[in-house]
Amino acid sequence: MNPRMKRVVKAEEGEVYDIELDAEILEANRRIAEENRSLLRRYNVTAIDVMGSTGTGKTTLIAGMIRLLKGRYRIAVMKGDLTTTIDAEAISRYDVDVVPINTGKECHLDANLVRKALRTLKLEDLDLIFIENVGNLICPAEFPLGSEKRVVVVSVTEGPYMIVKHPFIFMDADVIVINKIDLAEAMGVEVDKLRMDAETINPRAKVVQTNCRSGEGVGEVVKALGLM
Ligand code: MG
Ligand code: ZN
Repeated sequence: MNPRMKRVVKAEEGEVYDIELDAEILEANRRIAEENRSLLRRYNVTAIDVMGSTGTGKTTLIAGMIRLLKGRYRIAVMKGDLTTTIDAEAISRYDVDVVPINTGKECHLDANLVRKALRTLKLEDLDLIFIENVGNLICPAEFPLGSEKRVVVVSVTEGPYMIVKHPFIFMDADVIVINKIDLAEAMGVEVDKLRMDAETINPRAKVVQTNCRSGEGVGEVVKALGLM
């Protein structure tokens, strides 16, 4: 150990000023998430929450899945962002209903916002809803939305340590997507190592390698979600 390296300053439970981690708030969110889930089940609608940092390819992945699934399912998309509607507009070009959700300063969607967004959709006319979360790998893990499955997208352009540095969100994922594999060599990132990290943190998740821009691997994501 380098002697210049001091001891780790560790945050004790409840020490960081973070209203998001208030147990009551998390519990209220969980309750609303359960209500969303039962509402969706009543209408036979499957919701899939897509998480990942900004720029990893969440929107491109969703667009690719819409292209593959449009003939088979009636699809809508919810798109969480702080203040912009750039992604929502991009997705609306695929001729599906899109509900932009602007969180203001909040760095994640919560079940209450999703409930509000659900009220704007005609659930009887839908089979599938993709929910693109705000670009963030930390707090979305704490805020279930009521979705049936959770996808986490990581990109090789984020470097080699994204998965080990954000264990909680990956632990909770049903499908882990390693995107932009065509850029792995240029980035000096080993895709196999990222895959191993994913499988170690969450042996239950299906791990899929993609180049969402070209469409490579998107079909496998759809299969991993049980949609095809
Ligand atoms: Mg996006
Ligand atoms: Zn947040």
